[in-house]
Amino acid sequence: MNHERFFNDEEEEEEEEEMMAFMNGWFVKYGIFTLTMLLFCLTPMAGSGTPRQNSYLILLDPAHGGEDLGVVSDKLREKDLTMNMALLVRQEAQKMPGLQVQLTRSADRRMTIAERVKAAGTMKADCLVSLHVNAGFGKKATGYEIYFPGFRQAASDGGDSSPILKDMARNKSLNNSVRLAQQIQSGLETVFPRKGRGLRDAPSPLLDGLTIPGLVVEIGFATHPDDRKKLTEPETQRAVARALVKGLQDYFQKAPAL
Ligand SMILES: [Zn+2]
Repeated sequence: MNHERFFNDEEEEEEEEEMMAFMNGWFVKYGIFTLTMLLFCLTPMAGSGTPRQNSYLILLDPAHGGEDLGVVSDKLREKDLTMNMALLVRQEAQKMPGLQVQLTRSADRRMTIAERVKAAGTMKADCLVSLHVNAGFGKKATGYEIYFPGFRQAASDGGDSSPILKDMARNKSLNNSVRLAQQIQSGLETVFPRKGRGLRDAPSPLLDGLTIPGLVVEIGFATHPDDRKKLTEPETQRAVARALVKGLQDYFQKAPAL
């Protein structure tokens, strides 16, 4: 506060009154308009704290981390590549209106599957995509794989008072996982033509723990020299990130009601 206010003389009071009159006039002229605009801008923020109207929250999961390195082949470490890819996807998604991306881990730290599942619930994400790099199946194995949760688990986890409702919600989420997998597949097909190893339904502690659509994407094989070289190229990484965002955008555009 200004201490000079204690020594206010009349002149200053007059000035103040003039100012008040001016402000009142200004408010009548422009204030209501400004207030309306402010309210209009703030409306989508009301309630949840995040602007979720016409906006979808994608939870990206850079697999592994900390002392859990994932696949290590030559200089490639899975935990580093998944983190790098997640950051690139977030960057690309920021260019798209209506998509928000959060990461399960933003630092190089170990995280349990349960912690990753819990993050999806806490953040109220609309889907989860877990990024991995593949290994094995012999040294000739190459290409990307997309896993969605197994339908087999759907009917068996009832047990409370509304198993039917629970199954219906679970089936809807599983169907959406398959649709998401198809969109991601067509996105990746543009970067790795004919390199898809198909959509795979496999039991996964991460995916089976989710109540939202979720996928595991194995971007390529660290154990294959061509894949490994491609995966470490910045331009391929950027292209993969764009392809993933395209797939996610198409998925949400075609299914606004989750
Ligand atoms: Zn992995």
